[in-house]
Parts: sequence; structure tokens; C-alpha cells
Amino acid sequence: MANYNPKSLKAEEFINDGEILETLRYAEENKNNAELIDEILEKARPRKTEQGCVCSGLSHREASVLLACDIPEKVEKIKEIAEEIKQAFYGNRIVMFAPLYLSNYCVNGCVYCPYHMKNRDIPRKKLTQEEVRNEVIALQDMGHKRLAIEAGEDPVNNPIEYILECIKTIYSVNHKNGAIRRVNVNIAATTVENYRKLKDAGIGTYILFQETYHKESYLKLHPTGPKHDYDYHTEAMDRAMEGGIDDVGLGVLFGLEMYKYEFAGLIMHAEHLEAVHGVGPHTISVPRIKRACDIDPSVFDNSIPDDTFEKIIACIRLAVPYTGMIISTRESEEVRGRALNLGISQISGASRTSVGGYTDTERPHDTEQFDVSDQRTLDEVVRWLMECGHIPSFCTACYREGRTGDRFMALCKNGQILNCCHPNALMTLTEYLVDYASEETKKIGFKLIDEELKKIPKDKVRQIAESNINDIKNSNRRDFRF
Ligand code: SAM
Repeated sequence: MANYNPKSLKAEEFINDGEILETLRYAEENKNNAELIDEILEKARPRKTEQGCVCSGLSHREASVLLACDIPEKVEKIKEIAEEIKQAFYGNRIVMFAPLYLSNYCVNGCVYCPYHMKNRDIPRKKLTQEEVRNEVIALQDMGHKRLAIEAGEDPVNNPIEYILECIKTIYSVNHKNGAIRRVNVNIAATTVENYRKLKDAGIGTYILFQETYHKESYLKLHPTGPKHDYDYHTEAMDRAMEGGIDDVGLGVLFGLEMYKYEFAGLIMHAEHLEAVHGVGPHTISVPRIKRACDIDPSVFDNSIPDDTFEKIIACIRLAVPYTGMIISTRESEEVRGRALNLGISQISGASRTSVGGYTDTERPHDTEQFDVSDQRTLDEVVRWLMECGHIPSFCTACYREGRTGDRFMALCKNGQILNCCHPNALMTLTEYLVDYASEETKKIGFKLIDEELKKIPKDKVRQIAESNINDIKNSNRRDFRF
């Protein structure tokens, strides 16, 4: 049996089944241990220092105790601290993005995914470069600046060259004042050489969901195709980092396995990246299984209710305070609204999960990857966020200024976010309002920006931001950034 070793590069050693089971036993044993829980909560709380605000995060064992605890007042405390951490490091900014589905050809047999090879009911489609261009124009015309590209795994139909060509096309399109300034990539696990090519193509985050950390279940849920190889899939982030990609995004598909097991695995994966590469994951996503063509989510008997889902989000926030968290339109407006206060820092808006979906006037369902719960337009989502007290941000500055990996974390840790991310959010929101928003959204937005400008601590930075915002309003100059 493999021993636990967070520094190992072997999947079974850094995601160690024995250690997870021991963690779950420890968490169960201590879930009512109020003294220990208070100690863990105290450790998780953000502290002010001369350099700014700092947080220690939690180990997978500590975080698992919190997740197991169901003493109502302690659960409330977990949520309160999650909100404090969110405010301390991310403020009220929410980064916006949209997925772009390139191809649903796939050679895998993932039993929860409609792209699985045996599904004869889903029409297979792969965008041509002309179609990619049209999709990008449609996304730019909504106001999007940041995309996550998605594709099934198929070495013949979607080889790395196809993905690279699509990235090039996406970055080349500038419709009116539009631009896609950051392309994140969610494609199957691949080789160091291919990760290097993605890095050279200028991608932002490489995202790969583990789906489940439980090896036995993983093998059953991925019965055929290259994705069946648990170790190759689990070790993908190490290869991505070896290929030069600094920002990687983890995730679990909640509903497949027992959530406590997945949670411990997820935090152990983050600890492993920190131990080996000196930097944890840039983001963590929290997808839950949804209905889709040939997929009935009720056959997976580990579905989690909304309150547990919210607790998971809050516990991730406490465990890895410097990691961004993403929630997609798989979730409804209500769930997304509550999750935003518990630590989510990025959301998708107006997503279409079908290949070619953005150029169709009606939302097409035939090639959808999953049912979208939140079907509002981007303008509606932006307005709603502002009405709830958040600042929608279309900022992509960090990676374009070379602030990736540990350099981004340093910005987070040294409290410079209010002098950097905050003005960037306000300037990119101004671009959105001027170029794309409805009159009502503009009215709410400009008022919010005036208020929020006052919060920039450095006079010089505030003056520059004000002047740039005036330029955006009165000219076609765009893309200012700190
Ligand atoms: N093909 C790539 C891979 O295998 O990692 C990634 C792209 S896939 C389009 C993106 C993610 O969608 C998967 O990693 C999975 O977690 C999620 N997904 C698949 N089926 C789903 C379903 N029925 N409901 C919700 N999410 C699903």
C-alpha cells in the first residue's frame, strides 16, 4: 500500500486513500469537539499585519473537521469567516467569464457526460475557424473579455493543433471595441510538451476537473478511453506546471462520490501543488452534476443538497484563502447569490454550453453539455451583481502583466489589491457599461463606480483611475490597467 507523501509526484502518494480515510475518521471523531473547532476557526481567521492582511489556511485534516461539524452556531461561524476572508482578499469584486465550447467529439466513456463516445443521440459538432470567429464576435458583443474554452478529448478531431489554432483565432478577433484578453483552457490531461505549447499560445489558467479523487470510483466512472488512466489524469497539473503553466484550476464534479472524501482529496491536491511547485491552485471550481442528453443525474446517488454545497464552498474558502473560486451557470440565481458571499470570486454569465450556441438566436439544446440553470443575459447578471453589492469585473490584467503563480499570490498577500485589482475592476466595468450595458444597468453602474473610486487608498492611483475612466467614457481608448 502506498504511503502518504504530499511532495511525491505519484498520484497514489499525494492523493493517498489511506490518508483520506484516516482524515475522515479523525473528522468524524472530532466533529463535536467544540474546543478543537474553535481553535481551527481561530487559525483560519484573517489577521492584520504591517504588510497587510494574512491568512494561514487550513490543512486537509483541519478543514475536514469543519466540514464534518454540524453544530449550527459553528457552521454559522465557518460561513462568517469565509465571508471575512473573501472581503479581505477579493473585496466585493466578482470576475466574469464565459465558456466557449469548441467541439463535442470525444473518445472517452465518462458515464456522467453527454459527450461519452457511445451517445448516439447527441449531434457531434466541431467549430471551424470561421465559426470560432463568429462565436467570439457574439461573446464580445455581449461584453465578455475572458473565456474558458472547452472540448471533448479526441486526438483525431480535436488534436492540440486544433486547440492552438482556435486560441490564435480567438485572440485575433476585435469586433468594435471588443477583445478577448484571457483564454483559459479546459481540455483533457495531456503531455508536458502540449502544455508548453498551450503556455506559448498565451493561455491563462489550465483547468482540469479531477471529477473524483476516489480511484476505484474513478475507474468505474471512466470505463473506457484515455481518461480511464487515473494516475495520468491526477498527475496532469504537475505536467502542466512542468510545461510552464503557472496558473492551474482544480475541481471536483460533486455528486459522483462522497463529498467528504472529495473535499479531503481536493485540499490534499492543493497542498501537493504548494509543496512541489511552491504555489497552490489559482482556482477551484465546484460543479455539480446536471441533467444532459443521455444523462440522468438521479442515477448518481451522492447528490448534495444546497446547504451542504454552501458549507463545502465556505470550508474551501477557509482552507485555501488565496485560491480563486468559480461557480458556473450549472447553479441557479439563488444558489449563486448565496455562494458569492461565501468565497466565490468568479462566475460565468449568459453561458451557452452547446457547440456554436452563441451564434444561434434561440438557446440551442441539442449539443448542450449540461442544462443551464441560470439563463439570464450578461446585462441581467451584471445588474443583479451590482444590486447585491458586488462589483462585476472584466479584468484580465494580472496574467498580462506577468502576475501569475506565486507573483499573483504575493499581490493577494501584501494587501495591494485595493490599489491594483480594485481600480482595474472599475475601469473594465466602465468599458462594459459604456460599450454594452442597457440604460438601467449603466445608471446603477456609474453610481457604484463613483462610490467605489473613493475606496482606492493611494491618491495617485485614484487620480489615474478617474482619468482613465473619463477617457473610456469620452473616447474609444480601452484596456487601461495597473
Ligand atoms: N474533456 C475535458 C476533460 O475530460 O477534462 C474537459 C471538458 S468537459 C467539457 C468539462 C467538465 O464538464 C468535465 O470535466 C465535467 O466535470 C463536467 N461535466 C461533464 N458532464 C457533466 C454533467 N452532466 N453535469 C455537469 N457537469 C458535467
